[in-house]
Amino acid sequence: MELVCILCPKGCNIEIEENIDQDFSISGFGCKRGKKYAIEELTCPQRLVTSSVFVQGGNYCTVSVKTKNPVDRSRIPDVLKELVNFIVKAPVSIGDVLITNVAGTGVDIIATREVSEKNPNQTYKSDSAS
Ligand code: SF4
Repeated sequence: MELVCILCPKGCNIEIEENIDQDFSISGFGCKRGKKYAIEELTCPQRLVTSSVFVQGGNYCTVSVKTKNPVDRSRIPDVLKELVNFIVKAPVSIGDVLITNVAGTGVDIIATREVSEKNPNQTYKSDSAS
């Protein structure tokens, strides 16, 4: 398998093969972090997930969120499914934990923007207005 390391701007081209004895042949990495990244990509790829959830009673109708830690890539559809059905009540602060253990992954969902309570005379702001 060939991959480009995304951990720093150098973008090393890494080649990795899993041998029969479950050892790895790895070349092209520029540092130890890249070597670890390549093994994880081959054995258990993980990603941070970013998305948004609906907000009830907020000055914005959605709030951007992300997983606090990377999740197994195969579980991303389950995470997104839970987010689609989730509604949080305003106010929301950056860093608030909105969902613990999302989709049973052991990872929390946190807010990445501020949403205040809506003034009753206010109309919703669109995200593009921010
Ligand atoms: S292997 Fe190391 S030096 Fe190369 S891109 Fe990855 S982090 Fe950067």
